[in-house]
Amino acid sequence: MDEKVEEKSSEDNCKAYEIGCIKDLGKFLIAKKKIEAGDVILVDSPVISGPKCTKDEYICVGCCKTIDDEDQRCLACGWPLCSADCPSLTVHSAECQILKLCPTKAGDYFSNDILMILRCLLLQTTQKDKWGVIISWDDHLQDKNTSKDFLKKIQEKCTFIEEIYIKPLKAQEKISGKPLLPRASKDVIQKVCAILHKNLMECDNRQILYPLASLLEHNCLPNCLEFIQEKNNYNIIVKAVTTISKGDHITLSYTNILCGTQERRRHLKELKDICCFCQRCKDPTEFNTFLSAMICFGTEEDACKGVQLPQNPIEENPKWICNKCDIKLPNKDVLKFVHHLNKEVSKELKKNPSYDEVNEFMGKLQLFLHESHYLVNKVKYQLIQCQENGREDEQLKWCQELLDIVRKIDPYKARLGLYISTLLTKQFESKRELLLQSFSPDQKENSLTLIKELRNILTENKDLLTFLCKFNDEESLLKKNSEHEVILREWLMEQSILIDFN
Ligand SMILES: [Zn+2]
Ligand SMILES: [Zn+2]
Ligand SMILES: [Zn+2]
Ligand SMILES: [Zn+2]
Repeated sequence: MDEKVEEKSSEDNCKAYEIGCIKDLGKFLIAKKKIEAGDVILVDSPVISGPKCTKDEYICVGCCKTIDDEDQRCLACGWPLCSADCPSLTVHSAECQILKLCPTKAGDYFSNDILMILRCLLLQTTQKDKWGVIISWDDHLQDKNTSKDFLKKIQEKCTFIEEIYIKPLKAQEKISGKPLLPRASKDVIQKVCAILHKNLMECDNRQILYPLASLLEHNCLPNCLEFIQEKNNYNIIVKAVTTISKGDHITLSYTNILCGTQERRRHLKELKDICCFCQRCKDPTEFNTFLSAMICFGTEEDACKGVQLPQNPIEENPKWICNKCDIKLPNKDVLKFVHHLNKEVSKELKKNPSYDEVNEFMGKLQLFLHESHYLVNKVKYQLIQCQENGREDEQLKWCQELLDIVRKIDPYKARLGLYISTLLTKQFESKRELLLQSFSPDQKENSLTLIKELRNILTENKDLLTFLCKFNDEESLLKKNSEHEVILREWLMEQSILIDFN
């Protein structure tokens, strides 16, 4: 434990969390008292921030805006800069002196993770208090759970920085006598590399390190939601989305929870060298959603058609077993096959296919994958978005299937609020279409069930969007929902149908 935890002020006493620490897991936040859904747990300001890592675009090293003209560069170091008057130019001035030691040519790929490491190292001369915070963290390089791939990645970055920037810098410092980086040994660089790799968070074009929020643990069923305020210096607000009992870990999710367990765990490993052992990761059925389930081919004599699931999903190479026959699949074969199908899905959806083509493709996928496999769901979601007259029944069925799944994997709407809202909007539009088709003024009572369903969808969506608006700026969706409500109410009035809306 570092000093930060031990120095308890009166302010600390009213905080809802405290910092816990376990060997091989590191620091995390834990609820000091019962926390209710909607409570703000903490507000935190960045220690450092900078452009995110991307090979697809140029991002200004000052203000982090995307640059359209790739020739817009800093005249001194050649890194992307929106203009000589960039409002955040000052953040770049110190690192520019190091970056210019290795002039870049047009078309170079700018490795923003290297930039962030240099920016962080420079805090030791530019902002000593912030440097103190970062360097006091544990880098976990010695932990038994730290993977070889992660160590290799860190060492490669470190060697690159030493060779390209630190060596020429030291030579220059010898001449000038003014050290820019007093502490730049291999150990220090490695430590900064590892801390940044594990703790940076992303928002828009930025990656940001927070002194507290970066310590929040990952869980595939998180109990909190984070909201980064671009308009307020990128401060982060962390709110509870469900009741958190005293002693529970406070968690966020750092991966796409619509994906199956193997894909999430692969992503987390690569992103932050995290091994997740949450409830969902341990459950082969992923809360009975069957998001990763494969169809069993059986043998030549017996096609089986049972469901293959990993026996113990948190093992490195779990065995896949069938619920009907004895056939077992090696994990690497399943991974390879799913990887292949994933590529096929992306390829198919990029082709701008017709509704029927996508539908046929989804049928083919279901020969191999369970009907609620996450890749099938991805295609289903695409089909739901299409405006396809006469297919309302089909689309409604899929909407319902996807809603059932997301309610299981994200019951507190911590991650998928917008996804759910989109489904509810589509559900409303399709049902309204069905109502208009089947409505007969002489037999209004036959439509009452459908009308009530429509009202309930609007109410659910309104509640959801109001909840999301508290965290984020989703007002346009809320407006659309209100418009739907107004139109439905007017129509009901025209038809002299009385329905209570509240
Ligand atoms: Zn700029
Ligand atoms: Zn520069
Ligand atoms: Zn998990
Ligand atoms: Zn089988």
